[in-house]
Amino acid sequence: MATAVKNSSAVEVRQTTCFIGGKWVPSRSGKTFATINPATEEVISEVAEGDTADVDAAVEAARKALAGRWGSMDARDRGRLMYKLADLMEEELEELAALESLDNGKPIRDARAADVPLAIDCLRYYAGFADKIQGDTIPIRGNYFCYTRREPVGVVGQIIPWNFPMLMVAWKWGPALAAGCTIVMKPAEQTPLTCLRMARLAQKAGIPDGVINVVPGYGPTAGASIVRHPGVDKIAFTGEHTTAQTIMKDASQTLKRLTFELGGKSPNIIFSDANLDAAIAGAHFGLYFNQGQCCCAGSRVFVQESVHDQFMERIAQMNKARKLGNPLDPQTEQGPQVDQAQFDKIMHYIDIGKSEGANCVTGGKRYGDRGYFIEPTVFDGVTDDMAIARDEIFGPVMSVLKFKDVEEVIQRGNNTCYGLAAAVWTRDIGKAHHLAAKLRAGTVWVNCYDVFDAAAPFGGFKMSGIGRELGERGLDAYTESKTVTVALG
Ligand code: ADP
Repeated sequence: MATAVKNSSAVEVRQTTCFIGGKWVPSRSGKTFATINPATEEVISEVAEGDTADVDAAVEAARKALAGRWGSMDARDRGRLMYKLADLMEEELEELAALESLDNGKPIRDARAADVPLAIDCLRYYAGFADKIQGDTIPIRGNYFCYTRREPVGVVGQIIPWNFPMLMVAWKWGPALAAGCTIVMKPAEQTPLTCLRMARLAQKAGIPDGVINVVPGYGPTAGASIVRHPGVDKIAFTGEHTTAQTIMKDASQTLKRLTFELGGKSPNIIFSDANLDAAIAGAHFGLYFNQGQCCCAGSRVFVQESVHDQFMERIAQMNKARKLGNPLDPQTEQGPQVDQAQFDKIMHYIDIGKSEGANCVTGGKRYGDRGYFIEPTVFDGVTDDMAIARDEIFGPVMSVLKFKDVEEVIQRGNNTCYGLAAAVWTRDIGKAHHLAAKLRAGTVWVNCYDVFDAAAPFGGFKMSGIGRELGERGLDAYTESKTVTVALG
C-alpha cells in the first residue's frame, strides 16, 4: 500500500500505485506522473504510470478471477459485496468528497451533494440486480427445451474521464460487477485518486482479488493497451468522440464489444410560455454546473424572442453573483477547470467567439492569477454557424441563440453531429411532448435539467455514443446471451 501523502489541503492521499490482483504495486517501468491540484497548480502526489506490462498483468489477474471464486459465486453474494462497498463509501463520504474536490477542482458542496451520493446509489441499484439477471424459456418448433442464459461478457476494460471521476467508476463497476464480469480500469490521468480509493474500499468490502484492477496512466499507452489486449472482451469508454474513433479502430482487431458515452452540444430550449424563473435557473445550472465540464451541458440555449432580453439580464446577474474560489470552501459555487490544457482550450474558444462577432456579456477572462479559473461567460447574439455554437467547449461558456417558433427550433436544435441531451421549458404539455419526440437526443428533460438517476438510461444518439448506461438495459452490454437447446425424448 502506498504511504499516506499529506498535501497543503490536509486531505490524505493514500493510494497512488497500480492495483493488480489485489496487490498495490508500482508500475513495471517504475515511472510515475504527477496529479495536480487545479486550484493551486501544485502537485498533489505522484501516481504510478501504468503501461502495457501493467495492463498485461491486470488482464491476467482479471481472467484468473473470472475463472475463480468470483466466477462461481452465488449471484446474491456478489450483490452483498456490492452493498458492502456502497456502505463503506457512505462511511467515508466526507473523505471521498474532499479527495474528489482536491483532485478535480469541483466545489466540495457538489461532491458531497452529487458525486459521492450518486455513486453510492448507483452501486446499490446494481447490487440489487446481481441475482435478477435471468434468461428466457422459448417455445421453439419440435420436441425441444430451449432456454437462454445470460452470462458475464468476461473481462471488461473501462476507460473513464476526469469530469465525474468517482461517479464514472460507479457507472462502470455497478453493471459489470452485477453481471459477474471482472474489470481492468484506467482512470483519467488528471484524476486518478478517487478511483484508487474506491479500489481500496472494494478490497476492504471483500471483493475477491483480481475482480477489480486499476491501472493509472495515459490514454495512448495504458488506455490503448487495454483496448488492444486480446484478453479483454469489452470496452466501456466515456470521453471525447475523437478518442472513441481511435478506440474503435484499435478494438477492431479483436472485435471487442464497445459502449461509448461521448460529447454533446445540447440544446436547452426556453419558450416564452415557460415558468421563466425555473427556466433561467435551469439554464444556468444546466451549463455552469461542474464548471461547464459536463458532456450533457446545455451549451446552446435557445430563447424565444419575446423573453430574450429578460433572460439575458437575469443570466448576467446570476453570473456576476456566482462565487468562484477554493473548491474546498463549502461556500464555493465554481472551482477551476481541471487542467492547463482545458483552460487553454476554453480561452481559445472565448477568443473565437469574440472574433466571430458574438457579444460577450459576462466573463470572458481568467479569474484570479493562480489555478485554472475562468469567469462564467455568456455570449449573446450567437448564430448557428459560429464555432461556439457547434463545437463542444466543455467549460463555463454559454451561447444564447434567439428563435421564433417550434418547428424552427426543432430543426436548429437537431442541427449538430451530437445527440446526448436536450431540454425544453414550456407550460404547454402538447408542445413539450412534441419536442421530446422530435429532438434527436438520448435524454430530453422537460422543465428540468441534469436530472440523473441510476434507474434512468443515459447515452447518446449520433456521435454522442453507442449503447446506454444505467437502468436495467445498462446490463445488456455486460452480458452475453447463450441459447441452449435440449432434445426431449
Ligand atoms: P478528455 O479530453 O476529456 O480528457 P479523452 O477522450 O481524451 O477526453 O479522455 C478520456 C479517457 O480516455 C482518459 O482516461 C484518457 O486517458 C483515455 N484515452 C485517451 N486516449 C486514448 C486512447 N488512444 N486509447 C484509450 N484510451 C484513451
